[in-house]
Amino acid sequence: MHHPDLCIAGAGIIGLSLALELHDRGYRVTVFDQGAPLAESSTAAAGMLAAHDPDNPPQLLSLASLSLSLYPDFLDRIHTLSGLRIPFQTHTTLQSVPPDTAIADSELTCEDLAHLLPALTPSDHRFVLLDEHSLDPRQLASALLAAVRATTINLQPHTAVLSTHSIDNAVEITTPKGTIHAAQFVNCTGAWAAATSRLPNIPVAPRKGQMFSVSLPPSLPLHFVLRTPDIYIVPRTAGPATGRAIIGATVEDIGFDKAVHPADIDRLRSLAAALLPAIARAHQLEAWSGLRPATSDGLPLLGVLPGQPNHFIATGHYRNGILLAPATARVMAEFIVGGIPSVDLSPFSPARSLSLLPSP
Ligand SMILES: Cc1cc2nc3c(=O)[nH]c(=O)nc-3n(C[C@H](O)[C@H](O)[C@H](O)COP(=O)(O)OP(=O)(O)OC[C@H]3O[C@@H](n4cnc5c(N)ncnc54)[C@H](O)[C@@H]3O)c2cc1C
Repeated sequence: MHHPDLCIAGAGIIGLSLALELHDRGYRVTVFDQGAPLAESSTAAAGMLAAHDPDNPPQLLSLASLSLSLYPDFLDRIHTLSGLRIPFQTHTTLQSVPPDTAIADSELTCEDLAHLLPALTPSDHRFVLLDEHSLDPRQLASALLAAVRATTINLQPHTAVLSTHSIDNAVEITTPKGTIHAAQFVNCTGAWAAATSRLPNIPVAPRKGQMFSVSLPPSLPLHFVLRTPDIYIVPRTAGPATGRAIIGATVEDIGFDKAVHPADIDRLRSLAAALLPAIARAHQLEAWSGLRPATSDGLPLLGVLPGQPNHFIATGHYRNGILLAPATARVMAEFIVGGIPSVDLSPFSPARSLSLLPSP
């Protein structure tokens, strides 16, 4: 095997976006994935770019805002390399807000809601309209993969990183195909970051999300996202999935299990139908699950591992990895080349993770 400048473990949206950014800065990059690229959380996602979801930790806002500002260039770069243009599917989100929350945006009246979405049963929800986009992560994944393949990035699917070892100015990386040395290594293995054999003890854990898709009935033309703390309904309005809605999602702390349970899908359908009764009878197309990479404070781990100057990590994006991919690639590349990141990375420092670890 040849000796790359930099090696990434994990070909999800985070690993491949970072690979592109570093390639554009002149790095020779190799990316290993234990399975197929983009076959895990990154293609299980709904695709909301939910920077202003009231459930987000406030410390996420600077990174989320940077990502939103980078998204058009990110999609242009992918288009230039792959020839594939990824459209936004929606441009607004009808977001419910809890009764005791002060809201900057003006709350919609019952008349506004009836005009906007006559099929909605608002019950006791208060709603605001957010300026927020969504895209189809499967479309994005195909284009991102084609973009990476159009470069000299060395993508090695079905090759797990078994262990890493820092030596002098390099990192020794062991895979089933052999051992290589890279000047720098980045762990982008998502929910597997802590489970990956002999990587340092990193507090990232899987949070399973089950979802399903339906064919929207003609009586329910939905052109924006509908989101409450319990359920979201995300319509596809462009491309091959037009006319579908993605409905999700469970949040489960049960390890690496990805089984889909009809009873859980039925519960999601009931929650969605409580808002839009027509969903109760909508034809189900698919059901699936994915493993979000979660940290105990809800913030990603972005930076260098304590005491290992060539060993970086970019994971723990939990419910917002699609949103945060362009900014993560940008700030990690800036950090890796020794520059000043565009946003303050101290809230995301892996060093803080040591204090998140349970006491022995
Ligand atoms: C149901 C659901 C809905 C979601 N909805 C949204 C949404 O609407 N908006 C949003 O922004 N985010 C959403 N997310 C979150 C988003 O999908 C994740 O935050 C994001 O995909 C994480 O990307 P990643 O590249 O870190 O992880 P992944 O896509 O999981 O990629 C990690 C990769 O690492 C590989 N790997 C693991 N171990 C090793 C190893 N030892 N060696 C080599 N490779 C390895 C895996 O095979 C995998 O390909 C959702 C997630 C789920 C599950």
